[in-house]
Amino acid sequence: MASAPVPERLLLGPGPSPVPQRVLQAMASPVLGHLDSAFLQVMDETMELLRKVFRTQNPLTIPISGTGSAGMEAGVTNLLEPGDRIVVAVAGYFGQRIVEMATRAGAEVTSVSAEWGHPVDLAAVQDAVSRTRPRVLAAVHVETSTGILQDLPPLAEIARRHGAMLMVDAVASLGGVELRVDDWGIDLCYSGSQKCLGAPPGLAPLTAGERVRAHLAARRTKVRSWYFDLSLLSTYWGAERVYHHTAPVSMIYALREALRIVDEEGLERRWARHLESARMLWQGLEELGLRLLAPPAHRAPTLTTVIVPEGVNEAAVRRRLLNDYHIEIAGGLGPLKGQVFRIGLMGAGSTPRNVLTFLSALSEVLKAEGYRPRRPAAV
Ligand code: PLP
Repeated sequence: MASAPVPERLLLGPGPSPVPQRVLQAMASPVLGHLDSAFLQVMDETMELLRKVFRTQNPLTIPISGTGSAGMEAGVTNLLEPGDRIVVAVAGYFGQRIVEMATRAGAEVTSVSAEWGHPVDLAAVQDAVSRTRPRVLAAVHVETSTGILQDLPPLAEIARRHGAMLMVDAVASLGGVELRVDDWGIDLCYSGSQKCLGAPPGLAPLTAGERVRAHLAARRTKVRSWYFDLSLLSTYWGAERVYHHTAPVSMIYALREALRIVDEEGLERRWARHLESARMLWQGLEELGLRLLAPPAHRAPTLTTVIVPEGVNEAAVRRRLLNDYHIEIAGGLGPLKGQVFRIGLMGAGSTPRNVLTFLSALSEVLKAEGYRPRRPAAV
């Protein structure tokens, strides 16, 4: 049977991002048994590199098997018992997903919601936390549905003052935006392999600190998810090396190689590269007469939301970009469906060359779709 071809694309959507050749090659290494001593060494190196990228000393720093949502599910089900209270800072689609998971976990959920395109108001979070005294405060660092970057240290301060644990979704920020788990006092943080880290989708790096470990030891009920039970997973990833589930061996090779690339570049240099490319993109989009959804002070460098100009067919633009230029970007989610384009500059995708390639393709496509800028482009 003939198989469908797999074309080359320039992945400039909200993820996955382009995967470097070195990472793809790592996946072609021989598959080892998940308890082979050679593989245990790969696991140790992966954990060590993950601690570096999370900026943490937490012993419990592991890749969860599954995509970013598996990290979210692991965080929610381990931190919450039925009847526990949680405050969720909701600035878009993924904050809402945390609410959905926490509700399913039987928690009493208080959402503090922002208008889409704005960060969550800190005074409103402070108010909800002091009123409800939750076990957990949760927030999304880069809200991929809106392109908003939520400032985390003030949330950590609120959580600390009220004895709540802070859970952070760093799916679209880890390895691309400044994030300091230990310095900022984040108790549990999870991410995804396929965005700023530059591996394929399939793993959710997660780190959990001392307060989480104490909470796990003191829980009244078992974690509802057996697969994501962090105490059980620790027996495989920790000193005991007890079988829990068959590790996705090739994906862990890929993540280790992607993390080595991050380490070679240097985390701070990588954060700076993401910011520089994003600034170049923002300027270029504005020169095309386009408007960005997120206000400059709260813009995420990894994901940019552009308001679809009046009279332009959003889906047709994306189709042309993909078919004629092999460039993938995304449309809006939820209430922003049809209203915005979402452009991701993540991992190996975040380069000046890609920004220029994208801007010139977009300019051609918009012209073909009948767009006339409100003011002439600068060039
Ligand atoms: N959280 C955020 C901020 C995301 O951007 C995403 C995916 O786009 C997720 C969670 C869910 O990750 P996944 O689709 O890998 O399950």
